[in-house]
Amino acid sequence: ASEKEAALAAVPSDAPTIFDKIIKKEIPANIVFEDEKVLAFRDIAPQAPIHIVIIPKVKDGLTGISKAEEKHCEILGYLLYTAKLIAKQEGLEDGFRLVINDGPKGCTTQLSGYLCVQRVTNLPSVDLDFKTIFAGQSVYYIHIHLLGGRQMNWPPG
Ligand code: ADP
Repeated sequence: ASEKEAALAAVPSDAPTIFDKIIKKEIPANIVFEDEKVLAFRDIAPQAPIHIVIIPKVKDGLTGISKAEEKHCEILGYLLYTAKLIAKQEGLEDGFRLVINDGPKGCTTQLSGYLCVQRVTNLPSVDLDFKTIFAGQSVYYIHIHLLGGRQMNWPPG
């Protein structure tokens, strides 16, 4: 495996992430929806006028959708249902987009510098260089992006 693959494979499924800290209210977030199972908050680097991150309150090994097992079906369905509720709450009657990125080839490459620092902080056991940091998922905690408020394009790039 390449250095990058090795680094990514070394991410433990229970390593605390920035989203764990948001759930514990250790760091602030602009929360738009919360119930016993799900938390949703505005993305700090919005890619659309409305950009909300939706996460389960219990991670249960779901660092990403590629780690899903049959036991996760209920919460995964509930996350989608919640996304619909939030879209309605946000007034997105004309349409919206849900996105789940996974792995180095599925994820954004446009991360701000301080997000990278957070990411390294989240992965204390792995010595990541910036090339690796910019190549993959930055938060190893499953999340759905809800995007709206502008016309979306296809293919999504
Ligand atoms: P992807 O964007 O490919 O789904 P990431 O793991 O990089 O994968 O996604 C993390 C998302 O969470 C990004 O859109 C980022 O802007 C957002 N984010 C990271 N930290 C925070 C935070 N403290 N508050 C709100 N949103 C955050």
